[in-house]
Amino acid sequence: MANLPRVDLILKPTPLHRLDRMSEALGIDLWIKRDDLTGFALGGNKGRKLEYLIADVLASGADTVVACGAAQSNFIRQLGAACAMFKLRCVAATMHLPYYSGAGSPKGKSLSHDGGNLAIDALLGVDVRVFPDGDWRALYAHQGEVAHEQESLGRKVYKVAIGGSSPSSAFAFHEAGLETTGQAGPFDFLVTPSSSGSTHAGLAHVFADTATKVIGISADPDPDDELRADIVELCEALDGLTGLHKGIRLRDVDLRMDWTGEAYSIPSPEGNSAIRALARTEGILLDPVYSGKAFAGLIDLSKRGDVRGRVLFWHTGGVPTLFAADLT
Ligand SMILES: *Cc1c(COP(=O)(O)O)cnc(C)c1O
Repeated sequence: MANLPRVDLILKPTPLHRLDRMSEALGIDLWIKRDDLTGFALGGNKGRKLEYLIADVLASGADTVVACGAAQSNFIRQLGAACAMFKLRCVAATMHLPYYSGAGSPKGKSLSHDGGNLAIDALLGVDVRVFPDGDWRALYAHQGEVAHEQESLGRKVYKVAIGGSSPSSAFAFHEAGLETTGQAGPFDFLVTPSSSGSTHAGLAHVFADTATKVIGISADPDPDDELRADIVELCEALDGLTGLHKGIRLRDVDLRMDWTGEAYSIPSPEGNSAIRALARTEGILLDPVYSGKAFAGLIDLSKRGDVRGRVLFWHTGGVPTLFAADLT
């Protein structure tokens, strides 16, 4: 196992517990992993990634981190908190609604342009730049411009990938998977939200040669073969970092595209109704961009009998966007 440099940000292990009422409602043995409760900047899966990412920033000698994402990004919120702790300047190139160009500009109601994560970003001192909506390629170009601007001011810049995705962040989820084996299990199925793919990749890698089937529910309507290829690439890097040769191929990656809704970052009726269902049966709050859509997937898959037995749902956080969404 690689010994990657790491800083401490989150409380580990995060809780893992059974959902008695929802188990009964769905007729499965349902458990939940609470990465919404990391104890760090309102929680979420990015805390695990940032423990490695920030160590890498510090090793690089950079004083400024330049990120990109949706304006209501959960990653930028948690990155901003970590940067503040280590006295790093944090600048983020954002759009309210970046979209996949193949599908064209979405029509649905997106998240609000203030409050939610943006309120916390301001509190943390993140320099958030909002560009006109466009596709992801345009957003990455703006990130490059902001990085150049910062360099021309004499700053030493570290550019982070979308969602903090990297082999080390996938490694953080390989470790998170091991963390669950000391808590409960084994599970027949593990269902996780998936977007940049590093959460899915780490969990798929750790459980690859076990009886636990890992299913990712995509939050992005991008071509699924491209998303799967990213996950395979991360898994190959994990073979190296862990010394465990899992040899995961494209057809081994179980990524479902049926619950993305109209577009990334546009709440869907199914996702919103899943959020209400879990809130009203268990008092647990999901988010409208990732975990709500993934839980809608879990509900449908359990009704079809495609997930059954002992099932673990990975709660990746995102709760602050509930305060920026209209779920009606
Ligand atoms: C970023 C995020 C995800 C997606 O995680 P990836 O590792 O990028 O696939 C899922 N849920 C929430 C709440 C997130 O903020």
